[in-house]
Amino acid sequence: MSLPVPVVWSEDCLRHEPGGEVWLGVLDQGTEVPARAVVLRDALAAAGAPVVPARPHGEQILRAVHDPDLVDHLAGVWQAWVEAGFPAQYGRDRVVPYVFPTAGLLAGLPLRSPPAVHGRAGRFCYDTMTLVGPGSWAAIRGAVDAALTAADLVSSGERVAYALCRPPGHHVTRAAYGGSCYLNNAAAAAQALRTAGARRVAVIDIDAHHGNGTQMIFYERPDVWYGSLHVDPGAGWFPHYAGYASERGRGDGDGFNRNLPLPPGTGDDDWLAAVDALCAEARALGPDAVVVSLGLDAAATDPESPLQVTEAGYRAAGRMVASLAPTVLIQEGGYDLPSLGALAVAALDGAAAGAHG
Ligand SMILES: [Zn+2]
Repeated sequence: MSLPVPVVWSEDCLRHEPGGEVWLGVLDQGTEVPARAVVLRDALAAAGAPVVPARPHGEQILRAVHDPDLVDHLAGVWQAWVEAGFPAQYGRDRVVPYVFPTAGLLAGLPLRSPPAVHGRAGRFCYDTMTLVGPGSWAAIRGAVDAALTAADLVSSGERVAYALCRPPGHHVTRAAYGGSCYLNNAAAAAQALRTAGARRVAVIDIDAHHGNGTQMIFYERPDVWYGSLHVDPGAGWFPHYAGYASERGRGDGDGFNRNLPLPPGTGDDDWLAAVDALCAEARALGPDAVVVSLGLDAAATDPESPLQVTEAGYRAAGRMVASLAPTVLIQEGGYDLPSLGALAVAALDGAAAGAHG
């Protein structure tokens, strides 16, 4: 048996070593580790999927979905951190912001770009758990290149392609990163599909957490519909401030956003019913292409969410989403190393069946 889904991959994705995450004031070991990507790649290759190297892309698409200042900041912040002496003189070996220009702080003042890098760091980052180190930028770009290469494959006729993106991306808004994400790989893929000629793209986000970044990037646009099922942020889960059912889009994008928050403990039956509901809504729009934010952290085995989805659930979800239209699968979360590979194989296997069935 061989898995007929190209797996796009960049070796650079291993270079991001966040070195943990500061959660509630304490540096934890963190679960967004390079080994995730190795486990995923090895399991998919062992299942017979062809592994395709990511091709380098320019920054045109990136600068369309992100504030160019965010892209420039991420490209240069580590070097600025080193030049300011934080690793060598102060023992701060990762970029971690400590002050954030919230709406309440500014109270109408213009958002400045402070010259000091430790002040500027919080302008572009909204949490303390998304650290930047020496290899981060190479990995961030590698992940975007994987997403854009997978979008190229689908635009040129492939029915389904998977980008093994690490770090993940769906928590990154137009101008701010967080949630262990730095640039929005799924948004870049959706924009690339539009640029290549798709009139309407549906993004279906099945990560355990709400993809607040993708939602907000397309919130006022009718050409990219965003639908997500995720653990209810109102029940105490990240991203806390977004992901509620009342968020339906704004302006021209009104009605083109759909959130289905689920209670902690939701298992296959109710989870798949929500996937089915999103697919029905997406199908009604007649999308030319689909982008799936494939988080594997809704699995019962995952330490980062209280959802209880099985391998069979992921296989069924893969089949449903990929039957809609040509599909780009983007790796998002998924943190339980022993079960991660089998979950990915199940999801891609289902997607292959949906695409070719
Ligand atoms: Zn997640």
